Amino acid sequence: MTKRYEFKVLGESTLDDTTKGWKHKCGAILMGKTVFLTVRDGVSSLSGSGEVQREVVPYCPTCEPNIRTYGSISPDGTIDHPSYILEQESQPASN
Ligand SMILES: [Zn+2]
Repeated sequence: MTKRYEFKVLGESTLDDTTKGWKHKCGAILMGKTVFLTVRDGVSSLSGSGEVQREVVPYCPTCEPNIRTYGSISPDGTIDHPSYILEQESQPASN
């Protein structure tokens, strides 16, 4: 089973037609930060393959000025970074 993540900050933001950017609930326009996610091989928390996945994560410069620039991904797909939240299971369409 694949875990699906979404960005926490996007759920608190709306797409602004004027600026074509995402506007946070505080009124600030979201920015992007490059985050490095270490890929764990599952054997030991210290022995990784050394592989690092680079992601651009949206963040609010007002509310999250010190966004973490590192995190990790486990073999089961679990992402350890505060900007990622598990996507809510949505009910399948009935038709
Ligand atoms: Zn904000």
